[in-house]
Parts: sequence; C-alpha cells; structure tokens
Amino acid sequence: MSDFFITKSPNGVKFGQFKHLCDLPVRHGISTRIGGISQAPYAKLNLGLHTGDDSAAVNTNRQLFCDAVGVEFCKIVTAEQTHGDHIMIVTDCDAGKGHALYNESIKDTDALITNITNIPLMLFFADCVPIIIVDPIRKVVAVSHAGWKGTVAKIAQKTVLKMQDSFGSIPSDCQVGIGPSIGSCCYEVDQTVITHLKQNFSNWRKLVKQTHEAHWQLDLWLANKFQLEEVGVKTTNIIISDLCTACNTDLFFSHRAEQGRTGRLGAVVSLI
Ligand SMILES: [Zn+2]
Repeated sequence: MSDFFITKSPNGVKFGQFKHLCDLPVRHGISTRIGGISQAPYAKLNLGLHTGDDSAAVNTNRQLFCDAVGVEFCKIVTAEQTHGDHIMIVTDCDAGKGHALYNESIKDTDALITNITNIPLMLFFADCVPIIIVDPIRKVVAVSHAGWKGTVAKIAQKTVLKMQDSFGSIPSDCQVGIGPSIGSCCYEVDQTVITHLKQNFSNWRKLVKQTHEAHWQLDLWLANKFQLEEVGVKTTNIIISDLCTACNTDLFFSHRAEQGRTGRLGAVVSLI
C-alpha cells in the first residue's frame, strides 16, 4: 500500500486516504469525481455548492461521500473559501454549518480546526491544495485550503500555529497529508505570483523552475511542506499524495485543465 491510496466504497464512491492517518483516531478522506450523480461538466461526484451545479445533486453527492468515509453528513462544517488566511476554531454549536446550504457555511474562512469529536471539517478544491492536519496527542484536527494565495500567505503554517496557541499542539506531534492538487508539471505562474513568493519564502528558488521569460512552474506541494517544516512539523510526518489534478481529469476536478467549468473535490477530517 502506498502512502496515499484510493479505495472504492461499496456505495461506488472512490476516495483517497493517507496511510499514516489511517492508524489515528480520526476519519478522513479526499474525494475523487467517481461515484456521484452530477452531470457534465460536474460529473459525477461534485461536492461544491457554489459551482452552478444542481444543489440537490451536490447534497446527494455529499451524503454519498460522507457515507463512504464514515462521517455524518448533517454534522459537517464547511466554509465560504476566499483564498484568504482566516482560520476558524469550530465548536459544538457550529456542527452542521453549511452542510447543505452554501450561505450557512462559515464566512470568509480557508482553514477549520476543531478538538471536538464527530464534527467533520470539510473544504472544497479544484487544483488548490488540501492539507489535512492531525495532532493525535492533544486530539485536534484541521483542514486548510491553499491555492497560490493561501500558500504564499502560509495558511498551512498558520493553521499549525493556531492549533498550538489554542490547544497546545506541538508541531512535531502533528501528522499532515497534502492531497491531490495541481502539480508543478501543470502549474505555470507569472511575475505576480513570483513577487509574492519571494516576499514570503527565502528559499523560493527551490520551489520554481523557469520555463521561459516571466514564466515559472511552481511547486505548491513543496511550498506547503517547507512552511510546515519551518515551524517544526517533522519531514517524515508530512505525506504528499503526488497526484496532479490537471494531469488526471478522469479522476479529479481541475479548474485549470477544464477552463473553470468543473466540480469540486472535498477533503474531510473528523476526530472520532
Ligand atoms: Zn500535471
């Protein structure tokens, strides 16, 4: 079994899991596009309500994905993701926020943390990087959404630091999974991104490869790994799935490869 593997649930949903998180007292998963009921261009397991897809179909898909992972659909907490760096601590009274209605999800937030059992945290992706963080010692879980803006704003690092501030998590105890998202193979960026990258990463040259004048390929996976290592997360505790969404549109939704008309994958984690 590799470090990140994809399984097919009896209900037809295919989803990925990190091997090192499977031994911990959590349920987690990252969906694929296989196993739902949405029609093209959202076929089939679209989990994003804000995509233009039929909301009843999306909620059926969310129920199917939750059943496959073994979490309660009506308790999932979601956020209105804005490519910012706001991080929310989810408590008992937030259970179910945005599970079926987009406008009830937590506003302007790109990372969710909780220390409460059986409240699944779920965020949505189509090329942006899903980061699942588990502290099995203090019993805290988190999920972060990092496109280039979240990556240069170091939202993954800020999530770990907030786990530390709020719950006493020690970064070296944290286990992290960096999920399927756009790989450097398919992620060409321009000067704007590079300018932000330079401001926030002293080692930015290790994260890019120049393809031609004013064009670079950016490795978002490595940029997120570096920022986690910077605050003490162990290299051996960070697993990168190594699957590019744009190279694998048969399996994943890709905003870039599908010119913006596509669905969303979900990344979920819950303490049990
Ligand atoms: Zn690729």
